[in-house]
Order: sequence, then structure tokens, then C-alpha cells
Amino acid sequence: MSDKIELVCKECSRHYAPEALHVCEYCFGPLEVQYDYEQIKSTINIEEIKRGPATMWRYSKLLPVEDAAPVDLGAGFTPLVRADRLGALLGISNLFIKDDTRNPTGSFKDRVVSVSLTKARQLGFKVAACASTGNLANSVAAHAARAGMEAYIFIPYNLEKAKIVTTAVYGSNLIAVKGNYDDVNRLCAELTSEVPDWAFVNVNVRPYYAEGSKTLAFEVSEQLGFELPDHVVVPIASGSQLTKVHKGFEELKSVGLVDTVKTVRISGAQAEGCSPVATAFKSNADFVQPVKPDTIAKSLAIGNPADGFYAMETVRKTGGAIESATDAEIIDGIKLLAKTEGIFTETAGGVTIANLVKLVESGVIQKDETVVALITGHGLKTVEALESSVGPTMTIEPKLSSFLEEYSLT
Ligand SMILES: *Cc1c(COP(=O)(O)O)cnc(C)c1O
Ligand SMILES: [Zn+2]
Repeated sequence: MSDKIELVCKECSRHYAPEALHVCEYCFGPLEVQYDYEQIKSTINIEEIKRGPATMWRYSKLLPVEDAAPVDLGAGFTPLVRADRLGALLGISNLFIKDDTRNPTGSFKDRVVSVSLTKARQLGFKVAACASTGNLANSVAAHAARAGMEAYIFIPYNLEKAKIVTTAVYGSNLIAVKGNYDDVNRLCAELTSEVPDWAFVNVNVRPYYAEGSKTLAFEVSEQLGFELPDHVVVPIASGSQLTKVHKGFEELKSVGLVDTVKTVRISGAQAEGCSPVATAFKSNADFVQPVKPDTIAKSLAIGNPADGFYAMETVRKTGGAIESATDAEIIDGIKLLAKTEGIFTETAGGVTIANLVKLVESGVIQKDETVVALITGHGLKTVEALESSVGPTMTIEPKLSSFLEEYSLT
């Protein structure tokens, strides 16, 4: 049972009680949630999962909080869509899109927020807070409203308009900071000690927050009939999602729900204007050198990614690769997915698709692999990115002759 969880330091393996802690007191390494897999293995079963709610909470046994009434807007259990047209275009025969645009606030962040606020409430917190590149802001604001918690949300002032409006509408305290995300994050790290009674979802309760991303792996496997895919392409901001998707697949093996021999290859996708992890990966570096972001993929614009090193290590260990894409390629990626599969993604999804194309071209993704691309946010959040490249096919007078005249020219 997940009441039996502990926090464990990823560096020195010291154990801690499951409280609002995120770094090791001895070595400052990040803490991660550890479960008693033998115990979970003896109680978890496929039939029960299938009878569970059509949300990520069908996997509550593998989440750090078992709450009969979680802070829940219905995140997760999003469609896994066979993408035959896109696959045919790329020359791969088994391509799937995990469509996380369908989450309650339009991004995968609903998964991590639902877990972290449920845990925060259980730990007695009444105020939720976060530093955000946009999607986290939306999600924390909505879930805090749902839970009746107050929220303080810190964002870079130059975020996309839609992300500001869709956060502010929930009535939280929205603080626009004149700096980039890394400045916002540093400010919040300093603030945590001033306001110890706030739950910063991606700071002091980060170990619980991060666990939410595992549900992507659980669902993908369930949707493939409790089989593991061969290869998954994951966008990288802080790198947390990528490492946790890997952890999710490994946990399914540990509790006996899938074949234990296979390793899922994980590849990462970054925007060239913020590609510290891709750069480190390609140059075989031992650490990730921070950068100053400059990209239209604002939801991925973290120049100093907290889990960048671990993401790189996961990709190396599983035999994947990390690529990066230019802003122009990101826009092409968004359009390609929309045109071939009818799915409209934000810039982060454009990053995933653009890098999927590169990974196929370079041969890292093999033609017969079962490939899953994670599409993590909805296109309506970043329409600005497309404004200059898509528009009406023609503009006419409200007269038949006007249409016919223009039509004959096309
Ligand atoms: C936050 C975010 C990610 C990646 O998150 P990590 O910080 O790497 O866990 C991916 N896609 C979207 C749309 C996001 O908002
Ligand atoms: Zn430690």
C-alpha cells in the first residue's frame, strides 16, 4: 500500500519519512518516493484497475497517496491514438500518439498537480503555490479552486496570453515576475523558507508531484493490452516527466503487470533555443550546462533543468537519444500532427513531433518499433506561435461570384 511509502535520496540512499521534503539533509541530493513493491504486487491486479475510475486514479496503488477523494478534475486516462497517416509519412509502421491535450486544463500537468495537491492537503497544507512556465499555473489554479485551497502562482511576465487568462480566471493570486522561468524558480526557492506553510508543488512537495507523470507509462501500457511499447518520445523541460515515464514502466515490471525482460527505449525532445540536455547528451558530457532560453516552446523553456542529468542518464541507459528542433521545425511539427491526425498541440507537442521526425531519419527509431509520442499540451494555449503561418485560404465578399473568382485562382 502506498501508506508504506518512504522518501529516498537518489544520491546517497538515505531514507526519510514521507513529509514535505525534497532534498537530502546530508548530501542535498533529490528525494524520490519509494514503495514496497512486493506488497503492492500481492494486491494489485488488472481486473481491479479496469474497474477503476477512467482517470489516472485507477493507478492509486502506485501513487504516493491513496485518498478515496483525491483533488481531482478528471486528469489522465487520455486516448492512445494509432497514428497511421503520420506513421506512413515518416515510414514507421506502429506509431501511437498519447493525447494529453485532453486533460482538464489541456496539459499533462494535471496529472502531477492532482497528485501533489492531494498529498499537500493530506499533509495539512491550506495554500498551494508554484513557479510555472504556464501549464502548471493553469493546472494549479484550477485544482486549488476545486480543493478550496488558496493559491499563489508565479510566472514569467511574458507568457502566452491564453496561459495567463486560463490561470487568472480561477481567482488565484497570479504573480507575473519580470524575468525568465529560471528567475521565477529561484525566487520561489528563496520564498519556501519564508512561507513554510505553503505547498510549492514543484519545490517542497516535488517528490510527490513528480510521481504523477508515471501514470502516462501505466496508461500507455494498459492501452497496448498490458504490453510495453518499444520506444517512447518525451519532451524535456525540467526532465522530471522523462525520468518518471521510465520509472512507471519499471514499476509495472516490479509489480508483475507486464513482461519483465523488455526495456522501453526512451528518447528526449528539446527546443534548440533551450536544449541544455540535448547538448550534454550529444557531447557525451557528465553534467548539464545551464543555458538562457530563447524559444517559442515556452512550456519547455527551463534553462537549468532540475532533473536534466537524470533524464540524460535514463536516455543513455535505455538506448534512446535526445534531439532538438528549431522554432521553424516546431511550427512544422504542430502543423504536421494537425494535418495528419487531427490533433492540435501546443509548441511542446511541436517539439515532440519535430524530434520524432529526426529520430526516425537518424535511424535511432527503427521502422518496426512500437513508438509512442507524448503530446503533452493543447494548441489553443499557444495560438500566437502560429498566427503568422496559418490563416484563411481566401478572403471574399459575401457573393457567389467573389468565391468563384477566388476559387478559380487557387
Ligand atoms: C511541463 C511540461 C512538460 C515537461 O515537463 P518536465 O518539467 O520535463 O517534467 C512537457 N510538456 C508540457 C506541455 C509541459 O507543460
Ligand atoms: Zn543524500
